[in-house]
Amino acid sequence: MEITIKTEQRCQLIDITSQVESVIAKSKIKDCLCLVFVPHSTAAIILTENEPGLKNDWLKVLKKLVEDEEFEHNRIDDNADSHILSGLLGQGKVIPIEGGQLVRGTWQEIFLVELDGPRTRRVVIKLIKG
Ligand code: ZN
Repeated sequence: MEITIKTEQRCQLIDITSQVESVIAKSKIKDCLCLVFVPHSTAAIILTENEPGLKNDWLKVLKKLVEDEEFEHNRIDDNADSHILSGLLGQGKVIPIEGGQLVRGTWQEIFLVELDGPRTRRVVIKLIKG
């Protein structure tokens, strides 16, 4: 199963929890593992709180990690920072499902992290029976 997300900025956090939950609800599988994966090397998946200040904090920290670097890849593509942050954050997460519900903490929302937008991103969702 797959969802498509259109991003609007170069770097952006987008809460995709409800879209993932509706895929799970349609599947009728009650107990399994849920892989949420982006088939992209300049985007990532994280779990964090959906709070506007925190979303900005994430973007500040990510920017700081890669600023002032002279990246070799930028000679051909000008997006080395995006690739590196994507790899560091991870391009997928595995979340348990019990009783048809994602097992997650109160402040754990699923986010697509756009790192080289705006683009159209695919998010692949696989339910893996345990
Ligand atoms: Zn590149």
